[in-house]
Amino acid sequence: MSHFNYREDGLYAENVPLANIARQFGTPTYVYSRASLTENFLAYADACRAHGRGEQGALVCYSVKSNSNLAVLNLLGKLGSGFDIVSGGELLRVIAAGGDTGKVIFSGVGKSREEMRLALSHNIRCFNVESIPELHRLNEVAASMHKVARVSLRVNPDVDAKTHPYISTGLKDNKFGIAFEDALNTYRVAASLPHLEVTGIDCHIGSQLLDDAPLLEALDKVIELADQLHAEGIDLHHLDIGGGIGITYDQEQPVAVADYLSRLFARIDRWRKEKYQGRQISVMFEPGRSIVGNAGVLLTEVQYLKHGATKNFAVVDAAMNDLMRPAMYEAWHGVQALQRRDAEAKTYDVVGPVCESGDWLARDRKLALEADDLLAIMSAGAYGMTMASNYNTRGRAAEVLVDGDSVTLIRQRENPADLFALESIPS
Ligand SMILES: *Cc1c(COP(=O)(O)O)cnc(C)c1O
Repeated sequence: MSHFNYREDGLYAENVPLANIARQFGTPTYVYSRASLTENFLAYADACRAHGRGEQGALVCYSVKSNSNLAVLNLLGKLGSGFDIVSGGELLRVIAAGGDTGKVIFSGVGKSREEMRLALSHNIRCFNVESIPELHRLNEVAASMHKVARVSLRVNPDVDAKTHPYISTGLKDNKFGIAFEDALNTYRVAASLPHLEVTGIDCHIGSQLLDDAPLLEALDKVIELADQLHAEGIDLHHLDIGGGIGITYDQEQPVAVADYLSRLFARIDRWRKEKYQGRQISVMFEPGRSIVGNAGVLLTEVQYLKHGATKNFAVVDAAMNDLMRPAMYEAWHGVQALQRRDAEAKTYDVVGPVCESGDWLARDRKLALEADDLLAIMSAGAYGMTMASNYNTRGRAAEVLVDGDSVTLIRQRENPADLFALESIPS
């Protein structure tokens, strides 16, 4: 259920008029709904419990890169979430947010020695390793610390996630993961290294998947590999199916998390019974977008209306540096006026002030607007703030968390002077 709804006097986040937030904190500002974050996380956690998976049997590792604000991480951590990180910086965020490092898994193709050391010193749950050189490096770093690193190999099941090429990651010619036909050999290498303990297998085939068929296909391939490994005496303790469930930006109808998980657990249970002699194997997930995407909006104010010969532009104070997805993936975000007007609607491109033609947030939208109107760019909770930059020396937006009637500033707006504070002029 959406927690961003119209009432008589405009658009609300839970019980708070978004216009009040814009007035108090200025624009552009990201606004997140605590109820929405909670519901979206519990869709995973409750489905796991409903299929008899407690803390030992399943772990939801929220993908930190989708929205890494400390308040979001803290909330999810309190609900029992683990964390999927892709950098040492994200690990430090999880720690600063009070997250449990024992529930952290470390993904990514390019882990540095320093990041490995940091993660080992905090005893994270598992490294998702993507290549043989990475196995050797991790083994060396762990040896130098007299530790054993738990590893899972990210395999590339070569299934087509049928999503945008930039967010599809499970195909053969992709930089991610270990090719399926090399997986067995890579596991043998991992098992032979004394400072590594092979504990799992993982895959992540892409993002914004509307249908779970490719995920279940990937699961089948992962299971097939687990059987081959078992025959070689390598027994896995967990399967990690990655993230990737999509959300509704416009008219999309993504599979319900509960339905996806019930199909997934049914397959895993059948396999355990028939092939895996009932052995315990825990299941991990790495959802990002499906937890935060529709839990956030970006508030912006119309600066100017430009009525050109062929197009109308609404120039707003948010830009591609605040929300990169339209410029980067031609992504579609809903645009809602905080105040509904009776005036005649015109077709607008909603664009930012950045000096790039790619700086647009929405195209060809019917809106009834006046200068100074406030807009909400919808579904902006995932890959919004985390992908924001300081291009054009624009301070990044403020972030606010709404909980019922209460509003908390969870990140201050950046001050332009801070943006060049680390720079110096040669004497
Ligand atoms: C980005 C990412 C995720 C999260 O993907 P969503 O589509 O946001 O659910 C999970 N796992 C890995 C390895 C990722 O890179």
